[in-house]
Amino acid sequence: MIHSDLHTHTTFSHDGRSTATEMAAQAFALGLTHYGFSEHFDYDYPEHDLRIDGVPPAEIDAAAYFAAARRLQREYAPRGMQLLVGCECGFDPSPRCNARYRAMIERFCPDYVINSVHTVAGKEAYFAEYFQGKTKEEAYASYLSAVRASLDAAYPYDIVAHIGYASRNAPYEDRKLRYRDYAARYDDILRTIVERGKILEVNSSSRGAGSEFLPDADVLARYFELGGRLISFASDAHEISRIGDKRAMAEKLLLEIGFTDIAVPCRGKITLLPLAD
Ligand SMILES: [Zn+2]
Ligand SMILES: [Zn+2]
Repeated sequence: MIHSDLHTHTTFSHDGRSTATEMAAQAFALGLTHYGFSEHFDYDYPEHDLRIDGVPPAEIDAAAYFAAARRLQREYAPRGMQLLVGCECGFDPSPRCNARYRAMIERFCPDYVINSVHTVAGKEAYFAEYFQGKTKEEAYASYLSAVRASLDAAYPYDIVAHIGYASRNAPYEDRKLRYRDYAARYDDILRTIVERGKILEVNSSSRGAGSEFLPDADVLARYFELGGRLISFASDAHEISRIGDKRAMAEKLLLEIGFTDIAVPCRGKITLLPLAD
């Protein structure tokens, strides 16, 4: 059984709905042995003056977050749950944005870093505006090229998050971002992840993406074929009700493909948790 969930958000993130205390308590009640906070550090947003409903999202209070999360980490350690204090960095290629992430990581030493692509050439790929004036092929190809660029981020990271994010809310009847439609781009991304020893995330918050997970099962199978073995599990929960969501389904799929473990990175070391346990 999967006993980890490393991608969750609390009210320290602008869109979190449950407090860190509530989220940790729920993870513990579910019996997770490795549970991580990965609050949004959306330093890509101010680069392009991006807004949500006309308002720039409030930036995280990093000092308050890390202090509170470390307190909870100390509280749960003796109770048998390793609470990991992580962060999710929204990639942007600008040197200033990369430098901000590097400085934040050096200052606060998160246990692990999730690297994500939410914005592509200054547009949020979850919003309708991103798709305006683009064919589906252009929208998805640009997104995948941003994912490839994010692998060269100038700050340390452990996990490559939710590949296929642009399909979550895309304005197409068939939204799925399939391996076979972008095989060369996917191969370049997956090979780079394997070569660099990064962890590919399986994200169960697929929403309308047309597949149960991000990335799609075909992409996970291709990653395995290319030698990829490092997988992390992510609910991307923003409230207590979704922590660990679809863990059993993810486990079944991963075992079918051939994966044997779930990876948990912490301060540069990776712990492997057997899937079938
Ligand atoms: Zn994300
Ligand atoms: Zn997230």
